[in-house]
Amino acid sequence: MAALAVASLGMRHLSRRWNDWNDATSFNFIVRKETEDPCGYDGFNSVDFSDDYCGSAFGENTLAIAVASYQSAILGEPTISEANIIVDQTKQFNIFDGNLVQFGIQGVDFRRVALHELGHAIGLGHETSNKAIMAPSISNLDRLQPDDIAGAEKLYDGSINCAVADLAFGLTSNALNSTDCTVSDLLPGSRDTSPIDLYRFSLTNPATLRLGMTSSTLDSVLLIADENLQVIGFDNKSINECDSSLTQLLQPGLYYLLANTFDSPVKSECGISGDYQINAILSSGWVNPLGTSTSLSGDAANAVFSGGITSDKGVNFTNQFSPDASLDIVGRIDVDPQHVGQEGFIVIVAVVDQQILFLNEAGEFVDAAANPGVITRASNNNALLQSRN
Ligand SMILES: [Zn+2]
Repeated sequence: MAALAVASLGMRHLSRRWNDWNDATSFNFIVRKETEDPCGYDGFNSVDFSDDYCGSAFGENTLAIAVASYQSAILGEPTISEANIIVDQTKQFNIFDGNLVQFGIQGVDFRRVALHELGHAIGLGHETSNKAIMAPSISNLDRLQPDDIAGAEKLYDGSINCAVADLAFGLTSNALNSTDCTVSDLLPGSRDTSPIDLYRFSLTNPATLRLGMTSSTLDSVLLIADENLQVIGFDNKSINECDSSLTQLLQPGLYYLLANTFDSPVKSECGISGDYQINAILSSGWVNPLGTSTSLSGDAANAVFSGGITSDKGVNFTNQFSPDASLDIVGRIDVDPQHVGQEGFIVIVAVVDQQILFLNEAGEFVDAAANPGVITRASNNNALLQSRN
C-alpha cells in the first residue's frame, strides 16, 4: 500500500477520480484540502488550475501537465518524492460519459483528464499499444482500463514476489545464485538483477540488531527494510571488503533483513554468487517475538511466543554470550483469545549440537533419542491456559 497526499483547491470532480484509482488499484490517494503551490518543490503533491504552467505557456493541445520529482533509492529505481498537477484553466471543461464529441455538449470531459494526470502522478507513463486512459491523447475512453489498473498494480500491489524466511537470530547459512529472487522481482520497475534473500522478523520492544554477512566468494550487501520494503539501513563497508556488517537500533515493528550482492562484479577480489553466512545478534531490554507460531494440529496458530536469554538478570536479552556466562532463559506465551480457558501443556527443549533434550516433569533433561517419536512434556497437568493480557 502506498499513499499520496494531494493538496487540492476544492475540486469535487477531481476527488471522484482519485477514488477510481483507489477502488481499482492498491494505490491510495489521501486528499488534504490545503492550498499548496504546485510550482514549488515543497514535499507536497499539489493540484491547481492556472493560465500557464509555472510561468510557461501550455501547448495548444495540452489540457493539463503532471510533473513528478524523483529521489534515488538505496535499492531499486528512484522513487517519486513529489508529484504536481496543473490544469489549463483557459480550456473549456465539462463532465460527461462516452464519446468526446457529442451533439450539444461543449468542451472536454474533465474526469478523464483527471484520471490521466493522476496516473502520471503515481508514476505511470504513456501507453501506446493497449487501450488505456494513459494513452498519449485523450479519447472516447472515459474510465480506467485493464491496462491502467495492471500498470498501477505492478508498481504498488504491495505483495512480496519473493520467498520470505523467518530470521533465526544467531547463525544462518544460505547462498545467493541465479535461482534466487532478484531485486527486480522484489521491486517491479527496477532493472537490478542481483539475487536477494529475504528474512522477516518482528519486534515488540526496541532492540539493537548487529549483523555480519561473510562469504568466501560473495560481495556481501546487507540491508534492513521496513514492512513496506523501504530500506532503512544498509552496510557502510569499506571499498576493499567483501564481507558486510550493519548495526541498527530498531523500534517495535515488522522488518526484513535483505541479503544481497551486485548484478555485475564491482571488486576484482569479490564474486557475485555463492554461499554466505549471516550472524544476527539482537540485544534488547525486553523479550521479543520468536518468529511465526505453528500448530501441530494444522489449525491456525495465533499465540505469540516471546523469549530471551540474559546473563545479567534481565537487564539485557541477547543471543551471544561468553563461554563462562551463567544464563537465564525467559519464555512467554500470549495465548490467543480463542484458546483461553482450554487445556494445554508446555514442552521445553534444549538443542545441543545434534542432541535434542526434553525437560521432563521431574525437572530433568532426557535425551529425545531414548524415546523416538515421543514429545516429553515439562508441564502436563490440567492447568488451563490463562490469557496474559
Ligand atoms: Zn500524459
